[in-house]
Amino acid sequence: MSNKTQFKNYIAGKWEKAKDNTFIDQNPADREDVLGLFPESGADEVDRAVRAAHVAFDAWRLTPAPQRAEIIFRAAEILKKRKEELARIMTREMGKVIKEARGDVQEAVDMALHAAGEGRRLFGQTTPSELKNKFAMSVRMPIGVCGLITPWNFPMAIPSWKIFPALVTGNTAVFKPAEDTPLCGTRFVEILEEAGLPPGVLNLVHGGASTGQLIVRHPDIRLISFTGSCEVGREVAEHAARTRKRCSLEMGGKNAQIVMEDANLELAVEGALWGAFGTTGQRCTATSRIILHEKIYEPFRRKFIQRAKKIKIGDGSKDRAVEMGPLVNEIQKKRVREYVEIGKKEGAKVECGGNEPAGSRFKKGNFYSPTVFTQVRPKMRIMQEEIFGPVTCLVKVKSLEEAIRVLNDTPYGLSSSIYTENVNRAFKAIRDIEAGITYINGPTIGAEVHLPFGGIKNTGNGHREGGETGYDIFTEWKTVFVDYSGKLQKAQIDVE
Ligand code: NAD
Repeated sequence: MSNKTQFKNYIAGKWEKAKDNTFIDQNPADREDVLGLFPESGADEVDRAVRAAHVAFDAWRLTPAPQRAEIIFRAAEILKKRKEELARIMTREMGKVIKEARGDVQEAVDMALHAAGEGRRLFGQTTPSELKNKFAMSVRMPIGVCGLITPWNFPMAIPSWKIFPALVTGNTAVFKPAEDTPLCGTRFVEILEEAGLPPGVLNLVHGGASTGQLIVRHPDIRLISFTGSCEVGREVAEHAARTRKRCSLEMGGKNAQIVMEDANLELAVEGALWGAFGTTGQRCTATSRIILHEKIYEPFRRKFIQRAKKIKIGDGSKDRAVEMGPLVNEIQKKRVREYVEIGKKEGAKVECGGNEPAGSRFKKGNFYSPTVFTQVRPKMRIMQEEIFGPVTCLVKVKSLEEAIRVLNDTPYGLSSSIYTENVNRAFKAIRDIEAGITYINGPTIGAEVHLPFGGIKNTGNGHREGGETGYDIFTEWKTVFVDYSGKLQKAQIDVE
């Protein structure tokens, strides 16, 4: 092991060493490259973090929102200044190539700017009262201590979607980043500390599933905002239902891109490559099904496979020209390998990939080749279940109606896409596709922070992060009536 740096939790404004156990943070492109050791936090750390957030809540909720926003604005400036350094850490820690890592940090900058701006808005409504001399309005109120649990695939962007809106609206929080990206989580919190966030407002506890469970189950946490797998999301929701915690869930996807016979084929191929193999297919919005009109199936298949075979795989922290990095860990690689075997057993044909790339430089990392299946049927497991790796399926259909039927035929509903030059088809797709996001002539990936982000069916539980809708997760609406009539008015009863 080359690096035994011990990283810390951040509780009540103090950096604290691990009390008991630690876990190792490794570079997935080279498992011998260790980034450091992190605390495997237990009940004592979680409890103290929640208490610190609880103690800080009153002063923070009473700090005017524009002042809270100034701290977030300063965090945006620091993130911007340190973008390159943070992107390099991210590439080394979870394997996405440097360009994508820069994009991830940029998304956190964008979210910080959006949230900071919101500090001078946080609009409610004013509306006429039905009675004379009475004023009516609604205002947003913070909820309390939030538990924020995030995955590793967007290690700066996803925490930013939760932390900045939670804080600008006056909540305090306990943040647990994924155990595969604890260093990105640490840098994120350090930046907020440097920006001037008061002690206790944001607390960081490292750890895996058991630390997450302690947060979810803590009685003084009022809201859980979780992004991750459907299995864990269901567990979070079950607990939240029993304890009446608010919970927002962003979970898996089985996203599809439709390509009609009138599409710009070159553009559609380029989009599908980026959608399927960007971030090594480890995006909740990854294009894992490509639904092709029979008239362009063959030319698309040829071009797509030719290009997929040429994708340059490697360690993005050593080689800037790398286009696809490793899978995040060995468990993830095993999962991809197993799904490829399932696909073969189901009768699908591996057109390219289906193996680890050959060569000694890949031996120390969790690499897997871009893999394309054909001869698939909609009900196959590889067409229904989230694989979360560089694996996609090509499906042939005869019409737009069939394409949409196949697209909708999964338990998920996050992102979707259609390539067509025909406006009527585009609008039918917008209307009939069951998903939280639909792209016309763009791949399934990519989010803009000022628009709602999330999905339907098994992907979410009705909330949307981003945009105005994100603030609905982190606030309660309070309706306020001011009666200045000087007499008792009884609402509907007084109306003749
Ligand atoms: P995961 O569910 O295993 O872990 C997510 C987080 O939850 C981690 O911090 C983990 O430590 C924690 N956790 C694990 N078990 C827990 C438990 N029992 N109680 C509380 N916390 C627990 O998911 P992952 O492997 O880190 O991420 C991949 C999944 O996330 C994929 O399914 C992907 O689609 C999904 N994802 C969804 C979105 C979205 O916005 N819809 C975005 C990114 C990732």
